[in-house]
Formats: sequence, structure tokens, C-alpha cells
Amino acid sequence: MNGRLKDGNGKGLVFDIQHFCLDDGPGIRTTVFLKGCSLKCRWCHNPESISPKPELMHSTVGEHICGKWYTPQAVLNEVLWDKIYYGRTSGGVTFSGGEPMLQRDFLLTLSRMCRDQDISTALDTAGNVPASWYSPELLENIDLILYDIKAVDPALHQRCTGCSNEQVLDNLRKLSADRKRLWIRIPFIPGLTCTAEEVKRIAKLLRSLQSVERVWLLPYHSLGESKYQALGIEWTERFLSPPPGEIARIQEQFAANGIKIEIG
Ligand code: SF4
Repeated sequence: MNGRLKDGNGKGLVFDIQHFCLDDGPGIRTTVFLKGCSLKCRWCHNPESISPKPELMHSTVGEHICGKWYTPQAVLNEVLWDKIYYGRTSGGVTFSGGEPMLQRDFLLTLSRMCRDQDISTALDTAGNVPASWYSPELLENIDLILYDIKAVDPALHQRCTGCSNEQVLDNLRKLSADRKRLWIRIPFIPGLTCTAEEVKRIAKLLRSLQSVERVWLLPYHSLGESKYQALGIEWTERFLSPPPGEIARIQEQFAANGIKIEIG
């Protein structure tokens, strides 16, 4: 994937803006979801995020278009609504997706505008973009990076996402070497990710990094299933949510390999 989502005259394609989020960084946050993704994770619970175009979703109450072009100022106006809460809770705005880096020009403009308003910024990225896209100009406007690690083993990553993880791991190492604040997020899909060998590989990688502040395990849930139906996509994959005992077991495995993880 080296293509780049063309934005509409400086506008960004946004498929959701959620207020009062508590899971996308510190404090109370507004999360801006940008459309388009460079991975195709088999368990994706946001399938509407993957296509870089507006698309029709069907529901019991009718049809609606998912994805709308916003100017940076229009997004900023929404983000500013909650500014009072950011200051009180060390919160801010999180740019998520999809893969927000695919709209990097829009992201750069918007993150600068947020910085000018003293709003703390986080970037939620899966890292499957060219290294040069994490430019100094962009990174100086990003306070925290939420970085996904789907799999360290190359074949497993390919099986999980349809893509190589070479860029993903290179970018992670570079961001760490640049001492960017990192929160790592690891999806736990029973029977697929976080096998005993993978836990060892991920833990080894994390121990080699220098700026990881927190690590989260994200257990699979099936809340995205209805979205596949709404998009008219046949969902052939079926995964099971892990029982609590299994989550605790993975947590212990990471601990035994020197990594403290939190459960998302
Ligand atoms: S990176 Fe995230 S949005 Fe993209 S396919 Fe994977 S789970 Fe879905």
C-alpha cells in the first residue's frame, strides 16, 4: 500500500466524530474517525472505515451515507465543544480511523489547528504507511501515538491483515527511537493472534523499544457484525470473544515475559 487517499480540496473524509471517549488516550477525548484503511484485518469491527470513499449503509430505519467531507475548521468546531473537559481531565482529541495517516495533509492541518488551540492530540495508527509520512511537521503536533501491533510474525501478520508487517515494525522502531510517546494496542483474537509464541515475540519487541508508556490488550468482540450486514458485505469469518480466564492467561504470559499489559 503506497497509494494515498486524495482529499477533497483540503477537506477530510470523516465517518464519525465521537464525544466523551474514554478509551482513546488519557482523559476525556473527542475521537475523529477518518475513512480509509491500508489493512484488512479479518476481525475488523469498523468495516465502514476501510473504503476511502463515502458508501451507503442500510439499517432498519433506512439508508444513510457513511463518510462526509469536512473542512479542518468544521472538525475543529466540533472538537472545541468539549475543550473545557480536556483541560480538567488531561484529555484532548484523538485522530483515528481506519488509518488516519492516509489523509496526512488534512491531518497535518487539523493537528496544527488543534495545537494552536492548546488541545492535546493523539494519533491512532496501525503503521502500514511509508516512514516519510510520519514527518517532523506532523509529529511536532502529535502528543501521543496509539500504535497497533497485530502480529510480529510476518506470516501471521499477512494471514491476519492481508499485508506485510515490514513497514509497520520499521515505523514503530523509528517512532520509538525518536522518543515519541507510545501506547501500544494488541488485538487478542482467540485462535489467531496472541498465541504463546506470538506473546514471546511481541514482548521481545516491546522490551527493545524506548518510549512505550502503556500496553493494552484489546480482546475481540463481535459488535461490528451488524455493520457488515449494513454494508452488504458477506461476513464469513466467525471469531469468539475470549472468556475472562483466557484474557487473564494472556496477561500472565506477557507479565512472565517482562511486559505489564492492561485490558482494553
Ligand atoms: S487497522 Fe483497524 S480499521 Fe483497519 S482493517 Fe484493521 S481493525 Fe479495521
